Amino acid sequence: RAKQEGRGRLRFYETRMGVQVRERRQIEHDLRHAVERGELRVVYQPQTRIDTGEAVGFEALLRWEHPVRGTVPPNLFIPISEETGSILGIGEWVLRETCREAASWDNPLRIAVNVSAVQLHAPGFAELVHEVLFTTGLSPARLELEITETALVRDLPRALATLRRVKAMGVRIAMDDFGTGYSSLSNLRAFPFDKIKIDSSFTRSVDTSEQAATIVRTVLGLGRGLGLPVLAEGVETKAELEFLGAEDCHEAQGYLLGRPGPIDRFRDLTTGRPVAAEDAA
Ligand code: C2E
Ligand code: MG
Ligand code: MG
Ligand code: MG
Repeated sequence: RAKQEGRGRLRFYETRMGVQVRERRQIEHDLRHAVERGELRVVYQPQTRIDTGEAVGFEALLRWEHPVRGTVPPNLFIPISEETGSILGIGEWVLRETCREAASWDNPLRIAVNVSAVQLHAPGFAELVHEVLFTTGLSPARLELEITETALVRDLPRALATLRRVKAMGVRIAMDDFGTGYSSLSNLRAFPFDKIKIDSSFTRSVDTSEQAATIVRTVLGLGRGLGLPVLAEGVETKAELEFLGAEDCHEAQGYLLGRPGPIDRFRDLTTGRPVAAEDAA
């Protein structure tokens, strides 16, 4: 009996795995055509100076509008696209789309674009950045590339060489999700970063957990010591923002200050003038 049940369960798992494998293959396949079919779009989330409350830039966040599945979150499809290599085409599309968009703003705010490890290590990445800046006419100083620590560990010398070339163009580099990857401290020393982004897992509990508060204070001290501004991600409450302000954190990003949305929702910021009531309606 037990044997029978065991076999039944095994078959159940096999079927489930079969479904998962098939679903994954389907996503891989659909992803290959997502760019050309115009299914990708970028939403923008404001990055705000804490002391003055003014927006200094936006982070570009990718969305995939799948014809059947609806909106697929990046945490689901980016890892798959990294494995299959389709991230290269997708990443190029995001870079071009966001630089073109930002170049059209009256208000010269920064645009932060996430770059995957696969892009960073692919030949020609620095050339791509150069070409996109040239084609769109965006001032390099307005572009910030967000790189995670895990993106660096694959081939350190290669990643470093690419980042140096991009930085030499005047582009800024931010370390994303700081505190969640590996060997953060040596990376900070070796890489030409311009900003540290504290991961939202630390920000989230800063007002309720003494440990989280200590970690955030330590990262802020590190930033001060290294002369790097720090941005706190995932700020959702006033208490969190007040804590960060009191600790001299420079910038913040999160639902409290603005949820990611289509750029048209932020025209008051990109034009630098308030949108008239009838336009906003
Ligand atoms: P990330 O770069 O760390 O982006 C921050 C994530 O936190 C975004 O999730 C954003 O929507 C979310 N977020 C912002 N404020 C809050 C908040 O107050 N509370 C909470 N709970 N979440 C908040 P999203 O858009 O789902 O993106 C997830 C990740 O996918 C990003 O993490 C980034 O690693 C990756 N990603 C997004 N767009 C791109 C892209 O164009 N290229 C690459 N390579 N990766 C991307
Ligand atoms: Mg990011
Ligand atoms: Mg992050
Ligand atoms: Mg909290």
